[in-house]
Amino acid sequence: MHQRKRVLVTGGSGFLGSHLCRRLLKENNDVLCVDNFFSSARDNVLDLTSHPHFELIRHDITIPLQVEVDEIYNLACPASPIHYQYDPVQTIRTCVLGSANMLELARRLRCKIFQASTSEVYGDPEENPQRESYWGHVNPNGIRACYDEGKRCAEALFFSYWREHHVPVKIGRIFNTYGPSMHPNDGRVVSNFIVQALRQEPLTIYGEGSQTRSFCYVDDLIDCMIRFMATDESLTGPINMGNPDEFTILELAQKVLQFTGSSSVIDYRPLPGDDPKQRRPDISLAKQHLGWQPIISLDEGLKKTISYFQDMLGV
Ligand code: NAD
Ligand code: UDP
Repeated sequence: MHQRKRVLVTGGSGFLGSHLCRRLLKENNDVLCVDNFFSSARDNVLDLTSHPHFELIRHDITIPLQVEVDEIYNLACPASPIHYQYDPVQTIRTCVLGSANMLELARRLRCKIFQASTSEVYGDPEENPQRESYWGHVNPNGIRACYDEGKRCAEALFFSYWREHHVPVKIGRIFNTYGPSMHPNDGRVVSNFIVQALRQEPLTIYGEGSQTRSFCYVDDLIDCMIRFMATDESLTGPINMGNPDEFTILELAQKVLQFTGSSSVIDYRPLPGDDPKQRRPDISLAKQHLGWQPIISLDEGLKKTISYFQDMLGV
């Protein structure tokens, strides 16, 4: 018989967090969603607030939290460059102090804790694809450092709690993920292009559009997180989570224009500092240990996401 678990999701009202909360509820768990609404609105989880097994708490994880749960997913942290660069000090505090608070909680409860790490720990990588063994190429004081180095420090903190206090940690390095429930003003490339195309506004390509990213549809990613959490305590990661199909940003723009039928033009803008030139995960470890690989292609995922934004924007 399924035993109902009490699961804490920090950043639970954000893009990934809201999908994770829904999936956990569907699997008959009690979900405690904690968020300070820094980069999301309550709207993402508003419909869940009447669910008998869902609880929403407004709380900033840089402040300690005492609750009783069986598992923790630590997702709290702005993920879009425009959001994490808006208040870089708070971004570092969330990555480091927030993680320390959640790890202290996991230590007291002796429970598993998943950390939403990122492909950004590889910085502007000199190896492609990126394997977990690659140490990365990160500018420690550039405009992305608050996030990249914050997440790297968080990984160091997670492994230190594992070594020193035997906290069962699970580090997932998430690569660019997209899908329904992204905020239209989120600022990340997939939502920007779709919203611009649907509004017949120019698609803003930063640089020449030759930089690459590998885009994972949100359902695939959530499936990977759930599988990882279900593994035994010896599997700490880090494990890359993402779709290994690599596209240039110009190719992405062309697909969005094709699938929306938009007549938007392309507006080339300056490339922001330290923007990584390439990104592609090696997912051998996820395949081997989690029996996981993405099943939704970029074309299919883009069509689902476009349809979500069409409904939302009424176009
Ligand atoms: P998001 O911005 O939509 O969600 C993050 C959530 O965390 C928001 O609801 C925000 O209000 C909340 N939050 C921020 N600081 C907080 C704090 N101090 N206390 C409590 N809540 C706080 O971003 P997302 O795409 O859902 O990303 C979720 C996590 O996954 C983040 O940790 C991010 O770094 C990581 N990640 C995401 C991606 C991606 O492509 N979506 C890629 C790599 C890593
Ligand atoms: N990008 C772009 N136009 C936009 C938003 C982003 O060309 O409107 C580029 C950005 O410079 C980067 C890539 O798309 O090279 C992915 O950006 P995003 O902010 O989605 O995530 P990142 O992987 O950089 O954290």
